[in-house]
Amino acid sequence: MPDTVRVRFAPSPTGFLHVGGARTALFNWLYARHRGGKFILRIEDTDEARNTEAARQAIFDGMKWLGLDWDEGPEAGGDRGPYFQSQRKGIYDAYLAKLEEAGRVYTEEGGAVRFKFSREPVIIPDMVCGDVHFAATEEPDMTVRRPDGSYIFHFVNVVDDIEMGITHVIRGEDHLSNTWKHIDLFHALGKHSPRYAHIPLILNPAGTKMSKRDEGSSIQSYIDAGFLSDAVFNYLCLLGWTPKSANEKLDRTSMISLFDPIHIHSANARFDMAKCTWFNAQYLRELAPEVLLKAALPFLEKAGLVIAGSSITERALQSVKEKVSLLSELPAWVHYFFREDYPYEDEVVAKLRAKPDNAKFLAELRADFAVLTQWDEPSLHTSVEAAAARLGVKPGALMPLLRFALSGQSRGPGVTTILDLLGKERSVVRLDRTLAMLELAA
Ligand code: GLU
Repeated sequence: MPDTVRVRFAPSPTGFLHVGGARTALFNWLYARHRGGKFILRIEDTDEARNTEAARQAIFDGMKWLGLDWDEGPEAGGDRGPYFQSQRKGIYDAYLAKLEEAGRVYTEEGGAVRFKFSREPVIIPDMVCGDVHFAATEEPDMTVRRPDGSYIFHFVNVVDDIEMGITHVIRGEDHLSNTWKHIDLFHALGKHSPRYAHIPLILNPAGTKMSKRDEGSSIQSYIDAGFLSDAVFNYLCLLGWTPKSANEKLDRTSMISLFDPIHIHSANARFDMAKCTWFNAQYLRELAPEVLLKAALPFLEKAGLVIAGSSITERALQSVKEKVSLLSELPAWVHYFFREDYPYEDEVVAKLRAKPDNAKFLAELRADFAVLTQWDEPSLHTSVEAAAARLGVKPGALMPLLRFALSGQSRGPGVTTILDLLGKERSVVRLDRTLAMLELAA
């Protein structure tokens, strides 16, 4: 029986959760779920000066938002903890003693403890990059403990991978050049190294390494902009991995079953915000009404819209969901459903005033609507058609006028949908308001 797969995401909490880190976490998570293994979250917070509570929280929040649940780690617990490196000093001391016993470390005059490299060539059989050869090093021996007693990254990283029983290390390619040091440490401690998969960098549109300043680099920015977690999850998976499937749009279950690190590309991935946004639009239009409502509410509230009933809100959102890519765009498309003092776009006022007949047409429609007994989309259609015939115009000429009057906007859902959602009373009041506005302006 092969050992259970144990993988980890090991972020250093020095800033927000970066898109590169999130993708590393995601690949680890997918692999753990694919193999029925464990996904561990370990916080590499040995650099006290650079770690912040806010950064730790951003990691937890970002991972939870993406749906990357961890089996062991902070909050989840587990029997290989603590899962914060800052709380593991005793373990590192014990491992240093092992290296001492093996005769692999020595203390310098200044107090730094150095690890004697074996100085043999190393081959890393990487699942993504293939066999990576390193010649015997000529670098000076590596400090593993500083004079102040703190340990350096390479040492604690290896000790924790041993202690936590990590079987596969899936991490950014920026760590590949130091992996030979890690392998040397594993061997000095009498252990086999885990299997490695170094995943390519994410490049910005300019073709350089994506940095904090690049658009889309922080996971929080997706939350704020109104992306859906499933869409971002799907898009991030494709940064460096092409699933063996006809379709790029895949749900989590399919991605779990298809994911294999050997299919990760060795070439760098190019970040494309337009594609990520396109994915979001696809996911958005598939949301069930109640799910869209729940996702949109914080954005509507933030825009100051007071939502009275959920039924009209749900339907209003459904009526425009194909027109937007992000949740944050929704308020601009539905705000007039929630306020009677909706503004009129300049362009709308100009179009209404362009022909003197427009006000007359609106007044006719208003009179018809006021006596309409059946208020649903087919009846409203019939009513507008009858008015058009009477007035000697096409229904297509009246529809935009109604849209302008009822919403103040030139774009939106179907006019009969707007009328139906507003109901008779509010629609008539809106036509009166628009007529008054036109008279005042005349
Ligand atoms: N703390 C390291 C980082 O954030 C982890 C490296 C690793 O995954 O081994 O890059």
